[in-house]
Amino acid sequence: MLNDDIRKIKGIGEKKAQAFNRLGVFSLSDLISYFPRRYEDRSTFKAIALTSDGEQCCISAVIANEPVLTRIRRGLDIVRFRAADESAVMEISYFNQSYMKNSLRKGDEMVFFGKVEIKGSKRSMINPVCERAEAGGNITGRIIPVYGLTAGLNQKTVLSSVSAALDDCADELEEIIPAEVICRLGLVSAPEAYRWIHSPESFAQLENARKRLVFQELFVLSCALGVAKNSLEKCSGIALKPFDFSEFYSLLPYKPTGAQQRAISEAAEDMLSGKVMNRLIQGDVGSGKTLCAAALAWLLFKNELSTALMVPTGILAEQHCASLGTLLEPYGIGVELITGATSAAERNAVMERLKSGETSLVIGTHALITGGFEIPRLGLVITDEQHRFGVNQRAMLAKKSENPHILVMSATPIPRTLSLIIYGDMDVSIIDELPPGRQTVGTFAVDSRYEKRLINFILKNCSEGHQVFVVCPKVEADEEAFEAPAPGLKSAEEYTLTLRSALPELRIACVHGKMKPAEKDAVMQSFAAGETNVLVSTTVVEVGVDVPNATLMIIENAERFGLSQLHQLRGRVGRGSAKSYCVLVSDSAGENTKARLDIMCATCNGFEIAEEDLRIRGPGDFFGSRQHGLPEMHIASLGADTAILKQAQEEAKLLLSEDPNLERVENRRLRELIGTISHQTYG
Ligand code: ADP
Ligand code: MG
Repeated sequence: MLNDDIRKIKGIGEKKAQAFNRLGVFSLSDLISYFPRRYEDRSTFKAIALTSDGEQCCISAVIANEPVLTRIRRGLDIVRFRAADESAVMEISYFNQSYMKNSLRKGDEMVFFGKVEIKGSKRSMINPVCERAEAGGNITGRIIPVYGLTAGLNQKTVLSSVSAALDDCADELEEIIPAEVICRLGLVSAPEAYRWIHSPESFAQLENARKRLVFQELFVLSCALGVAKNSLEKCSGIALKPFDFSEFYSLLPYKPTGAQQRAISEAAEDMLSGKVMNRLIQGDVGSGKTLCAAALAWLLFKNELSTALMVPTGILAEQHCASLGTLLEPYGIGVELITGATSAAERNAVMERLKSGETSLVIGTHALITGGFEIPRLGLVITDEQHRFGVNQRAMLAKKSENPHILVMSATPIPRTLSLIIYGDMDVSIIDELPPGRQTVGTFAVDSRYEKRLINFILKNCSEGHQVFVVCPKVEADEEAFEAPAPGLKSAEEYTLTLRSALPELRIACVHGKMKPAEKDAVMQSFAAGETNVLVSTTVVEVGVDVPNATLMIIENAERFGLSQLHQLRGRVGRGSAKSYCVLVSDSAGENTKARLDIMCATCNGFEIAEEDLRIRGPGDFFGSRQHGLPEMHIASLGADTAILKQAQEEAKLLLSEDPNLERVENRRLRELIGTISHQTYG
């Protein structure tokens, strides 16, 4: 049975079972889904005389003399013998495997696989893999899978356990993918795929097996997201009464862009429908997402309901509180802040004011979802997350009330294919238009020979009354001593000192991740208030600070940053009406670096950059970490397998359009599987 414990397999006792458990393998089903990391091609046989130096191959040979064990010194011994076929002789040695002396005899017919070394007329193999010819074909003469291991397991154990599991439950490997789809896409069957991924007879078989399993993984995931979305769509939510947004727009300091209005109406429509809203607004940095949040908070206010806005950092919470407070004041909407620093008494007071309606928008960090904070009359939860909140935290905030509407705002442009994976359970509005009058940020890539000119450029911007960001990849000068050596990296602290002595007339501050949050906030605050001219920092500025007066962003060692990250950093300038610049400093000569920096100079479109970034680096690096809500993949690579991902998404969509909840009997297995997935992903 697929769900049986692996201890059922002959040869897996308690110790080995525990080792497998450490790899996440508990059941037979886990075991057959424990896919090889890579493969070793041991399929080529050669006559000894035809082997060449350095070549890896199998030879079929007879042991020509009794193996001799020589003890060279303590801890080092060798078993040596000759093996011959019709063409020539191979000298074979095994180091520190003295048992070989007794297990091999003159006259034994063996297969050896290893690397051939030729010196003069002498051919040799050191520590080759060997197997008796009559038992042959298990570890030689074929493509061999190489598994990830842990203490207590070796390749042989994993391989034999996997084959035993496959033998046991091959019949049970029911088709999960609908027959039509298998047919349409020409996929191999499930039993074939599992068999071939572990022991392929050829690379063509391996490719077919992999394609099918990748498709299956992405298809199941796409179906899971689709079903989740369908069921959320059925969830009833608070049906808001409509109000004409022109009333809201009429008091704004500027006219909302078409894209802002579209996103606002799409969200409003969701909330009027009687179903619960679950929407993502994706907009590039500076596209004006805050205004969308304001408009929707206004709609909730008109409905006598409150809105909660959750952001990742205290300083962002304060900035949002200030800007939303100003925006909403003319309408008489109270806006308040809850952070980790808010006292219990103050929290209670805020709750009271929310209850009475004096306050209708509460903005905060994590503190919103922790420590018994209640949000009376909560109708809408907005997270401005830039990928920093997981699905779980969104769910926790949603639990603060009966089915509040959910809006997620994200400033990280994501390639469409991946956004379907991360946000596949949501409806999406994209703000693809920047507010008018915004000039593109002039972007240049230079090397460090430009330092003098750059310092002058800093001075020029500051003398015109503007401010400057400088981003460095590390905090302190001596950091290299502790980490992998990385010569030539600028440190924020060191560079601050350099700039201070070069530009004594400017106020230059430094902020980095190793500072205490309160210190950090204070430095950021004073920069935002215009009290300092230049802010030297590590990437802490990346997260959404709004300083419209900043016109120059200098990024040192730009090769160290991902494209999307560079784009986020660049988005810190060009927020006001003055022409802004971004200078990418790099001495790295690599082709890749040059290609990436060229893209930055060529476009300011975040979506274009994201697609390129994904293409160049693959999704692991693209997102940096798993926090971003990408599910862990067994076999698929979200960067390399985008073509299959697209197919999987299309097929899932098609299937769900016919059977939205996968209730048909032929989709039963798929439905069951999805139950376990959505548990992992959303649990
Ligand atoms: P983001 O999408 O990065 O959160 P913000 O909401 O912070 O962007 O807006 C960026 C800047 O653009 C802010 O200074 C804001 O006041 C301004 N802004 C937003 N919408 C408009 C608009 N329709 N017209 C002019 N300026 C706008
Ligand atoms: Mg923002």
